[in-house]
Amino acid sequence: MSTTHNLYERAEHACELCKSTENPQPHTLQDSPEDDPKQVLLCQTCRELIQDLGESADNKHWRCLQDSIWSITPEVQVLSWRLLHTLSSTQSWARDALDQAYLEDELLEWAKSTISEAPKDDTPPTYDANGTQLQEGDSITLVRNLDVKGGGFTAKQGTLVKNIRLTGDPDYIEGKINGMSIMLKTKFIKRA
Ligand SMILES: [Zn+2]
Repeated sequence: MSTTHNLYERAEHACELCKSTENPQPHTLQDSPEDDPKQVLLCQTCRELIQDLGESADNKHWRCLQDSIWSITPEVQVLSWRLLHTLSSTQSWARDALDQAYLEDELLEWAKSTISEAPKDDTPPTYDANGTQLQEGDSITLVRNLDVKGGGFTAKQGTLVKNIRLTGDPDYIEGKINGMSIMLKTKFIKRA
């Protein structure tokens, strides 16, 4: 049996991202080895939208990734992760899907292998209230009570916020409290 034949079997002749049966064709993952191409079967719509993710980022079609990220097929998980990662720069639902997603360490490493280590020299470092530099994914605690506008609650001093995101603005980081993504002033937090 050829690889392509296997692919169609695995995918049950439907798009592995959105399940559409509209002209499914193999899509080869970026950076996949030439002698062992890693492929995912994609429908016409997915293949067209993938060509310009910047343009198609807010297309409702991409919500299919919220399901496909949980695929049991490694190639599908990796492609979904990469797409969500790109979309997450502008789409908050994609960020949430990535936060909830679970990939084995090995797969995550594979998924991340195409992310170019863009020089971040033009992004100023972010420091907490004590002057400790913060990194993406750090945990922090609040050093004072904060009223969460729009949340209708007060986040208490000492609240732990895990897996923060840097915003590029050294005065703010983004973190989740009570399931809400919130911009937090760095002068009110310290690294946990
Ligand atoms: Zn599709």
